[in-house]
Amino acid sequence: MSRVGMVGVDEYRRRARIWLGQVKPPDLGSSYEERFAGLRRWQRVLYDAGWVGIHWPREVGGGGLSMHHTLAFAEELVRARLPQPVGSIGVEVIGPTILRHGSNEQRNRFLPQLLSGVELWGQGFSEPGAGSDLAGLRTRAIRDGDTLIVTGQKVWTSWATDADFCAVLARTDLNAGRHNGISYLIVDMRAPGVTVRPIRQMTGDPEFNEIFFDDVAVPLENVVGGLGGGWQLAMDTLGHERSGYAIRRRMENESAFIDLVDALRAAGPGAVPDARAAIGELFVSLKKFEAQSRATATRLADGEGPTPIDSLDKLSLTATEQQLYAVASNLLGVERMVVGARPWGARAEDWIKGLLYARSASIYGGSSQIQRSIIAERHLGLPRGR
Ligand SMILES: Cc1cc2nc3c(=O)[nH]c(=O)nc-3n(C[C@H](O)[C@H](O)[C@H](O)COP(=O)(O)OP(=O)(O)OC[C@H]3O[C@@H](n4cnc5c(N)ncnc54)[C@H](O)[C@@H]3O)c2cc1C
Repeated sequence: MSRVGMVGVDEYRRRARIWLGQVKPPDLGSSYEERFAGLRRWQRVLYDAGWVGIHWPREVGGGGLSMHHTLAFAEELVRARLPQPVGSIGVEVIGPTILRHGSNEQRNRFLPQLLSGVELWGQGFSEPGAGSDLAGLRTRAIRDGDTLIVTGQKVWTSWATDADFCAVLARTDLNAGRHNGISYLIVDMRAPGVTVRPIRQMTGDPEFNEIFFDDVAVPLENVVGGLGGGWQLAMDTLGHERSGYAIRRRMENESAFIDLVDALRAAGPGAVPDARAAIGELFVSLKKFEAQSRATATRLADGEGPTPIDSLDKLSLTATEQQLYAVASNLLGVERMVVGARPWGARAEDWIKGLLYARSASIYGGSSQIQRSIIAERHLGLPRGR
């Protein structure tokens, strides 16, 4: 460890294991809403004990340790069969951008509340006409003295119904080029003129939403990185979504894998034909991704900002998550189609929900086609497509 006095990762892991062995597990209820509320309380429990924002600076409520410590704790949560905290958009996606590019006032005002889960965040980037082509966004923020007046629409905004703040990309200079006129705004989701309309996904959960902005007043002090500086910050946030968030999602997949293996063990010999080869292959994929995310943790621990290589993590996450749920669903056999069925003790509906949700991994944070183009063009230097 380079930082003087920093506890080593192995010792930190040992302390985490002891703490997790004693903490009361969260009560997550059964509905989507109960689970979300339970995970939010869980985040507070973890934060109060110092286990959220482990590698963030102490001044903003973090632990002042390294990304390796953060990774170790996330792995210990999996090992203890306990869930990850809920505020992932804030902690893994938006927060790192505010930490790196926000003013001191913005960091002090927003980051401690974001880590504790007292305030949750949304990511207002995509619009009906701007997803892969994000620079085509049309939401406007027109200056009126010390205020920006925001009008427009976002879509697919995850957890916006529960968000207190949203990082919104808006066009502040209508005459500048496509990328130059965009700013990165912190918008209070309770401000007059903000309307959130949930969209039910094919999993049945209303996780993502439309957001409408009708003349919403945003103070100039809520612009991160200066007027017109939003494009670079958006790339920063997307880099975190493809690396840090992918690592966190890997943990959720590891937990699901452990559940699957436990269920198969309990089913006994011969109960699930063909399980061994598929599970073996899946294990190899998960281990490869684990090795890759350790390399990513090292890059992040060394202070490296987002790079085109982050797209590798996103692609690996997508591949392993889709493989995991496809394998589980195949092993469940036709019983997976029966509501309430418990083939070899597994809750079929959870695995089917996972199978459906896994489809989204090749879309959010930039589709797999876009990730492959980023690697080809920006990492390998191939000529850009038209
Ligand atoms: C579960 C989920 C949660 C999400 N959460 C959020 C959120 O919180 N905040 C947010 O801002 N957005 C969110 N999104 C939106 C997501 O970022 C966009 O859906 C994604 O960027 C794709 O944009 P699009 O849907 O407009 O599809 P399009 O951009 O229209 O793409 C359609 C298809 O065309 C392909 N394509 C498009 N352009 C190219 C190209 N140049 N080269 C090759 N192929 C191309 C795409 O790969 C895709 O297959 C979420 C999406 C999902 C599924």
